[in-house]
Amino acid sequence: MSASHLPVERADFDQVMVPTFAPAAFIPVRGQGSRVWDQSGRELVDFAGGIAVNVLGHAHPALVEALTEQAQQLWHISNIFTNEPVLRLAKKLVAATFADRAFFCNSGAEANEAAFKLARRYAHDRHGPEKCEIIAALNSFHGRTLFTVTVAGQPKYSDGFGPKIQGITHVPYNDLEALKAAISDKTCAVVLEPIQGEGGVLPAEQAYLEGARELCSAHDALLIFDEVQCGMGRTGSLYAYMDYGVTPDILTNAKGLGGGFPIGVMLTTNAVAKYFSVGVHGTTYGGNPLASAVAERVLDIVNTPEVLGGVKSRHEQFKARLLEIGQHYGIFTEVRGAGLLIGCVLAEAWKGKAKDFFDASEKEALMILQAGPDVLRFTPSLIISEADIDEGLSRFERAVARVVKA
Ligand SMILES: *Cc1c(COP(=O)(O)O)cnc(C)c1O
Repeated sequence: MSASHLPVERADFDQVMVPTFAPAAFIPVRGQGSRVWDQSGRELVDFAGGIAVNVLGHAHPALVEALTEQAQQLWHISNIFTNEPVLRLAKKLVAATFADRAFFCNSGAEANEAAFKLARRYAHDRHGPEKCEIIAALNSFHGRTLFTVTVAGQPKYSDGFGPKIQGITHVPYNDLEALKAAISDKTCAVVLEPIQGEGGVLPAEQAYLEGARELCSAHDALLIFDEVQCGMGRTGSLYAYMDYGVTPDILTNAKGLGGGFPIGVMLTTNAVAKYFSVGVHGTTYGGNPLASAVAERVLDIVNTPEVLGGVKSRHEQFKARLLEIGQHYGIFTEVRGAGLLIGCVLAEAWKGKAKDFFDASEKEALMILQAGPDVLRFTPSLIISEADIDEGLSRFERAVARVVKA
């Protein structure tokens, strides 16, 4: 029997996998657009999009083509050498954003790790070792390395791993006065998600990001936007900072960038990038030809008026029907977010029950997400069809009816 035909089932997970996850009861085996099929041949509608990753759905022909073409050419060469796809991708990202320079890696956590290290090195070399403090928002999420969990304001992810990285302060999100009180000349960076994703799909207020920008500039602290989740067209702009008209010094992106192929990026200016001189930071895989070729094609397709404009109209379609469902069953206090990063905040009586809605959706052959215990999250493909949105929302309504009846 060939290795690829070794039969496996969900129960195997509990035997052979490190138990960091508790995946759903079925195993997806194939995807096409916004539909996914499991081992039994059941077809599901995908409103999860691999957690805001599959921006062009599953098996998009242009991405399959970019991947297979590059797979015939060159997969990996290391950063001892550069490669054509990574230079093309960098040029296009730089042309499309505030940034002059790109650093590539393989995930959101790595992009943030690079951003935090760069901010500290920038401050260290300009002002000395005292200027090392990083301010982050409570309830934020920046990844799972020890530095990034420590920066994020959720102790449940950073407790119990020994001594934490020092010099990190947490402030309530969207509270400009608290940020003003916390920032000082020892601050090297303020890091914010323009829309908190894992923390409940909570958008920043305009005045908050504007105020953060001013405070950072006044203290020679770098403003870092973590757009790992809300970037790459998710909000209907290429990056969410463009919606706000507030420009960071460093921006991180991953999830949507590769459309399902792992890649992350840290974007920054010439003035900041020069502090990451040769040997100061690095990566073996980051910016490898295979990932870069796919990401280049993702960017080519997403950064067009058709796709970005389509995100805004799909938002309206989602929001109208979600508000209707929420009102009919009295389950939401709010439908929030931007573009196709949508959060439904559960009403008091349903608080803590997001998992029930997730489970009921699965029973109706629909994949959705939670953002904590109180918020249902939808992050589908940016090009999901109107018909798939309708069908998925009908399944969602049946799921809601199930929960309410139970
Ligand atoms: C998912 C996420 C990360 C971490 O990305 P990984 O690829 O899982 O390391 C960081 N920041 C935000 C805002 C995210 O949503």
